[in-house]
Amino acid sequence: MVSRENVTREALSDLEAQRAQNLAEEKARRAEAAQKSPAVAALLERRQKLFFGGMRSAFAAPARAKDISADMQREVGEINRALRRELTACGLPEDYLQPVCRCQLCRDTGYVGEPVHEQCACLKRAVMHKLYQNEGLQGLESENFAAFNESIFPDTPIEGKRNTQRGYIRKIRAVCEAYADGFRPGEGRGLLLSGTTGLGKTFLMHCVAQRVLERGYSVVVVSAYRLTELMRRYQFSGEGAEQVEDMLGCDLLCIDDLGSEPMLRGVTVSAIYHILNERRNANRAIVVTTNCDSDGLYEKYDDRVGARLCDAGRMQILPFVGEDVRRYVRR
Ligand SMILES: [Zn+2]
Repeated sequence: MVSRENVTREALSDLEAQRAQNLAEEKARRAEAAQKSPAVAALLERRQKLFFGGMRSAFAAPARAKDISADMQREVGEINRALRRELTACGLPEDYLQPVCRCQLCRDTGYVGEPVHEQCACLKRAVMHKLYQNEGLQGLESENFAAFNESIFPDTPIEGKRNTQRGYIRKIRAVCEAYADGFRPGEGRGLLLSGTTGLGKTFLMHCVAQRVLERGYSVVVVSAYRLTELMRRYQFSGEGAEQVEDMLGCDLLCIDDLGSEPMLRGVTVSAIYHILNERRNANRAIVVTTNCDSDGLYEKYDDRVGARLCDAGRMQILPFVGEDVRRYVRR
């Protein structure tokens, strides 16, 4: 399952490896500097001895531990100042022997903040990046609300409507963003993005998927074509149970381009019905893009599928109108 828990665990173990690598790098740097400069070598040894000596004394006389530690700090400070001078003198950067870490905020631990432990931005980024490597999610890193560009939509009134296509898409975008921000698993509320090709449906569905994913919920994005393929394979050979399980169990399932998949007798309609019905019974949400309008959906599938997709109590239907913007812009 492409779950956030799994990839977080993976990202944390990457950080653990990073910390080991940091220590090895620090060790190599100390060896290099000591080899270059006998003065540095002597200072490093002094610092080491001081550290162990201080620890021993503090153990031996716990009542004086505070004074010992203050003395030690002062002396270490002096040694470190001398080290910086010697490093510069032998042609190395003065911070060459500072602790090595890739992230200065969390020192490669993945967490920041005291007393409240919070995930560091670097861990969050790593998790998102790993999520995006998964099948169906690769496009999401670039297709998100921040990248949504309404200026590619013509600002001329749509025939028979008061709004321009741009004004219209702006409203739809706001609905989608509010949906993604307010998304709660187990509420079962979904979106149906319907309209002809090139009106921005898939892009906006990706924006929703990205935002919901970023908020920590599990999301699967799959084309209707691939969904049918997966279900067919599963039905006939039992293969791909894991993917089917993901489609049924994720917090949000996004189905792209419903209606474009091949209509295989005894497969397509029942596969789609099965997914929709199982998710509905478990109150799990779907977002669907389709070229069909509601009549088209009832016609192409059957009443059961049509009723689940167009159920006004659960699905918000967003009709996309206007002309194909891909004629002007190549993405
Ligand atoms: Zn960090």
